[in-house]
Amino acid sequence: MGAREYHVRIRSQASGMDAAGRMAHRDAVPHVILQPGRDRSVRRRHPWLLSGSVAEVEGDPAPGDLLQVLSAEGEILAHGHYSPRSEIRVRLLCFGKEVPGEEHLGGRIEQSVVRRREAPQLQDREALRLVNAEADDLPGLVVDRYGELAVVRFSTAGMAVRRELISAILSQVSGASSGYERADANAARREGLPIREGPLWGAPPPPTLSIREGKRRYQVDAVSGQKTGFYLDQRDSRDLVEGLAAGRRVLDLFAYTGGFAVAAALGGASSVTLVESSPPAVALARENLALNAADLEAEIVLGDAFRLVRQAGEPFDLIVIDPPPLARRRRDVKRACRAYKDLILHALRRASPDALLLAFACSHHMGADLFRKVAFGASLDAHRPVQVLQALQAPVDHPVSIHHPEGDYLNGLLLGTV
Ligand code: SAH
Repeated sequence: MGAREYHVRIRSQASGMDAAGRMAHRDAVPHVILQPGRDRSVRRRHPWLLSGSVAEVEGDPAPGDLLQVLSAEGEILAHGHYSPRSEIRVRLLCFGKEVPGEEHLGGRIEQSVVRRREAPQLQDREALRLVNAEADDLPGLVVDRYGELAVVRFSTAGMAVRRELISAILSQVSGASSGYERADANAARREGLPIREGPLWGAPPPPTLSIREGKRRYQVDAVSGQKTGFYLDQRDSRDLVEGLAAGRRVLDLFAYTGGFAVAAALGGASSVTLVESSPPAVALARENLALNAADLEAEIVLGDAFRLVRQAGEPFDLIVIDPPPLARRRRDVKRACRAYKDLILHALRRASPDALLLAFACSHHMGADLFRKVAFGASLDAHRPVQVLQALQAPVDHPVSIHHPEGDYLNGLLLGTV
């Protein structure tokens, strides 16, 4: 990556350190010293340093400052951003002696963008994730591109204090003519950051913008929609649904703005039924169906999918179950398993012979093996044998770092009923 100049400066401590004598160096640079024997995860390149591993913090760092990480014996292991309020005390950006200064950050961001630009699976995609946090070695930074607009989420103090620098970099390398910041309320609470939303560069975004995904067109509300406006992580599964839907009566549970329903409609579904509890999402779903398949018979239900799936009624030939994360924390897993099982069980009761089911769990704590067991339990209880036809996951613009399994959150199953 060539050395670009980004015309915004942040605290000058970020670059140009030399390693002149460890003691002098240690005095100059804020650092954390690990508890004895707590260096294992750092040596395995895990990007999170938990508070329990930290023996001392020296040099009076401010939130977001660059820190050096030293083993109990004084070896320089890594550098990262300081989060004094979070259980994850330091987000590691570089391992060994390399220092993640401004140029480094610019290089990483540019590299993430270039990888997507060159990925064969992403050719002709105008709505995609450009930066996927830890998976792109940029913990705390997510960038989604919707055509001319980049939507940016800073979820750590380290990235939030570098917002101007990152905006300057993105305005040059993202290919988007404007940038908008969306807040991540959970992350802000965890990090003690103010909730901030608003334009970062270029013109402010319109209330809704239009994106194209293959044949599909969607209206996206990037300013007040969920996440950054659209579930880009389900793109490959929408392609799959479009290919499977011909002639089928389709039920899209937890439909948000109709991502799957539109795919089914364009794939030749004979009818689509959507269930979604958020009124603004339902309004956009209605627009999206009208935009793509004005003539199709569509029923859009504003309501509780957990309740509605239990009701008796017409059978469906293709059912999508894509609930919000039901196991945000490890201690929720048992309850989440029951909820997922219930959803799949009741969906199977509404499924016609030879129906297809797509069931998703979007929580790291619900791993692929466990989710398959949940589907197995539902199949037994519903007395409907099922085949696993395909395992489903997020597309290549949502990579997972092998060093950071926590980033692997989306699991899906394409089930065939017999
Ligand atoms: N399938 C969607 C994404 C779904 S995200 C897509 O591909 O775009 C989960 C959705 O479930 C959110 O839109 C949320 O508003 C909705 N939701 C949450 N609880 C719900 C409930 N009890 N009943 C129906 N929808 C619900």
